This record gives sequence, structure tokens and C-alpha cells, in this order.
Amino acid sequence: MADWKNWSGMHAAQPKLMARPQTIEQLQDVVQTAPGPVRVTGSGHSFTQLVPSDGTIVSVNALSGLKGHDSSACTATVGAGTRLGELTQILHSIDQALANMGDIDQQTLAGALGTATHGTGSTLGAYHTLVEDVEFVDGKGAIRRYSKADNAEMLQAIGVALGCFGILTQVTLKNMQSYRLHKRRYVLPISDMLANFFPMMQGHRSAEFFYVPFSSSAIFVSSDLTDEPATSRPPEEDEDGLKTLKMLRTYLRYIPWARRKLIAGALRKMPREDYVEEWLKVYTSDRRTRFNEMEYHVPIEEGPKAIAEIIALGEKHFPEVYFPLEVRTVAADEMWLSPFYKRPTCSIAVHHDALEDPYPYFAAIEPIFKRHGGRPHWGKMHTLTGADLARLYPRWKDAMDVRRELDPDNRFVSPYIARLIGLDG
Ligand SMILES: Cc1cc2nc3c(=O)[nH]c(=O)nc-3n(C[C@H](O)[C@H](O)[C@H](O)COP(=O)(O)OP(=O)(O)OC[C@H]3O[C@@H](n4cnc5c(N)ncnc54)[C@H](O)[C@@H]3O)c2cc1C
Repeated sequence: MADWKNWSGMHAAQPKLMARPQTIEQLQDVVQTAPGPVRVTGSGHSFTQLVPSDGTIVSVNALSGLKGHDSSACTATVGAGTRLGELTQILHSIDQALANMGDIDQQTLAGALGTATHGTGSTLGAYHTLVEDVEFVDGKGAIRRYSKADNAEMLQAIGVALGCFGILTQVTLKNMQSYRLHKRRYVLPISDMLANFFPMMQGHRSAEFFYVPFSSSAIFVSSDLTDEPATSRPPEEDEDGLKTLKMLRTYLRYIPWARRKLIAGALRKMPREDYVEEWLKVYTSDRRTRFNEMEYHVPIEEGPKAIAEIIALGEKHFPEVYFPLEVRTVAADEMWLSPFYKRPTCSIAVHHDALEDPYPYFAAIEPIFKRHGGRPHWGKMHTLTGADLARLYPRWKDAMDVRRELDPDNRFVSPYIARLIGLDG
């Protein structure tokens, strides 16, 4: 039995020690004395091997909750192990709000920051752009604190850090006053969606779309700030929808015209969604059906071309795929290891049933992402290693110099991390 497993079940580990420090002093002791490599886990929602170690896996779940807040600056300091769902409740209770969120709220804050987790919105940055200051334990076991105000460059170096620069203990976030969102969802032909990609994706505060394989249709979802009173969010139907798509895939895999006709019919009947709710009730959903995922971030202008190529290739060669493709946008930022570094981005995600082999599909799609200049999501499946990544990240070498300074004995470097950051050769 594995002691640690990721959400999709793809990766597991049996470390010599599973450490759950209750205090920062205990965490310092783990970093200084536990069997290496020392990798830190959040809630295990990454699809890559960032966390596995045969030495020590440490969880800072105990370091969670509100540590303090400043109402006039609209900032809040929380333990790094706080789950995003708990974070939304904490912020709501002090009349603060996250500017944006991704698809789920099960990740820890530190885990989300570690991989540049993001939502959608061409003017909205990923979670790490909210960080004002951090406290962490470095590879020597020393406590370090950096703030945007005093050392902006250091924060840019460590803002997205893959658990390689230190173990975060607490984070201060710059938030907003609470707000409501007007959310809308409707179906349109994928040809119209791609022809109007820029006005549609940039014409709302947040916008994204899903392409259902073998449907020729996109499901477009937008949300905008509003003063209208809250109505209520309709019940979620995503899980039932996935079951239907899987059933059609299984029975009509070799009759694509019938599969297309039935899916198109079902999507035509899908009710439009149109409601107003508090921010924390709008962004996230339940994701119960397990999958594996590859997501790349391409320059926004490359988005429509890359999407069209992925759809064509998938429908020609991979009839087993039934999970929708997800397309989002993310604002550029300044963090050196952020996939959005100085680049307005279109994020494109492909998913594959966790009970089935994802590798042939992902191996076929990845060259499309690469051709369009994609940078991989750090927490989602990809095959890039240090040399590839150094070419994609202009400040790569500077970031690696900072990593060496913070972890000179490579306490946080597992074999996977060594390949990822180019320490294996
Ligand atoms: C169902 C599902 C939906 C998802 N939706 C989205 C989405 O909408 N947008 C998106 O961008 N991603 C999404 N993801 C990916 C997910 O957000 C990231 O993989 C995220 O990193 C997972 O957080 P975690 O807490 O599970 O961290 P883990 O996966 O456990 O760890 C991630 C990284 O963070 C590091 N880390 C964890 N804790 C600390 C700490 N205290 N200090 C320093 N480093 C630390 C780890 O070492 C590791 O490198 C989704 C994943 C799943 C399974």
C-alpha cells in the first residue's frame, strides 16, 4: 500500500517518513534531519511527479487558517496549508474576496502557488499574482521572510517554486472587497467560437469554453461583476454529462456520425445558464470523475490555431477520448517561473479518463503545444526537462541561482525534480 497517492491515482510513493509537523520548529527539524529528498505535498492534486520521494514527504496541513488581516489594505495572512475552500470561507467572514479562482477548491494555497494554478480571465492573473509576502523554511532549515514591498525581485524568483526553493509556512494575499458575479453559459458552433475567439474571450471579466469531442459545438461560459441581487446557482450537471459522453463513446466509438448526432442533440437541449451569486459560489465545481490532464499555456494569439489542430487530430485518431477540451485565458505576470511570465496567455487543457492509458493521446497532442510556443502547466502531465524549460523561461538561470542559494545541499531535489530543473546531467 502506498503512503501517498495523487488525486488521479497515476503517481504513488512509499517514503521512509511521512512527516506532519504541527509547528514551524518541527518543520525546521524535518528539513534538517529527515531522510532526503524532502518533498512537500499539498492535497496531491498535481498530475506530475512533483511530490513523490522515497525519503520524506512532508505535509504542512497543520499550518493553516487565518493569522491576521488588514481591512484597509484588504490583505489577509493565512497558513500555507490552508485549502482553497477553507480560504474562501475565511475571506468571506472578513469581507474580503479572491479576485479569481480555478475549477476546484480542494488544493492547498501553497500547492496552488507552487504550480501557478490559475482560473480564467484575460485581465486576471493566476493565484501567485496575489502574493504580498511569504514566510518559508529554506533547505538549511532557516526561516526566511520576503515581501513585495521590500524585495520585489526575490518574490518574483520564488513566487512559483515547485516546492524546490523552500517550504511555505504562511502567505499574505492582496484581496478584493466581496463581490457578486453574473454567470452565463450557452452552446454555440465551435466554428463561431474560434472565429470570434478574441472578442468573446476578452469581452468579459472571465470567459472560458469547453469543446466536447465529436460535437462540433462549444460550451461558452462567462462571468462579469454585477450589483444585481443574487438569484441562485442551478444544480451542477457536469458529472451526469460526463457519464453520458462516456456511454456514447463506448457504444458508438466506431460510428462517429451517430455519436456526433446524439451529442449535438443533447447539447442543443442543454439549458442556458444565467444566474447571479456571491463570488465564492460561482467559480468552482465538484470534480468526481477522475482523469489525467495535460495543459499547456500558449501565447494568446496562437490559441485558436492550436485548438483547431488539437480537435482535428483528436477526432481523427483518438475516438476513445470523451472528456471536453478546456480553454481559458490568463493575464501576463512577472514571476520568473510563471508560465504566464510577460505573456498574455491562452491555456488549453486535454483530459483523459484516469482508468485508461493517457500516454498515446498526450504524446500526439504535445508536439502541437510545442509548435505554438507552449509552456506546460507545472502540475499537469508533460515531458519537458531542464534544457527545454531553460529555452522557454527568459529568467530560468536567475531562478536556478536563487534556488541554489536557498537549497545549497539539494534537500528538496528528488530524481524527477533533478530532471525537471536540469540537475541530472
Ligand atoms: C480536479 C482538478 C482540477 C484542477 N483544476 C485546476 C484549475 O482550474 N487550474 C489550474 O491551474 N490547475 C488546476 N488543477 C491542478 C492543481 O491546481 C495543481 O496541480 C495544484 O498544484 C494542486 O495543489 P495541491 O495542494 O494538491 O498541491 P500538490 O499537487 O500536492 O503539490 C503541488 C506543488 O506544490 C508544492 N507544495 C505544496 N505545498 C507546499 C508548501 N507548503 N511549500 C512549498 N511548496 C509546496 C509541492 O511540492 C508541489 O511541487 C486541478 C487539478 C485537479 C486534480
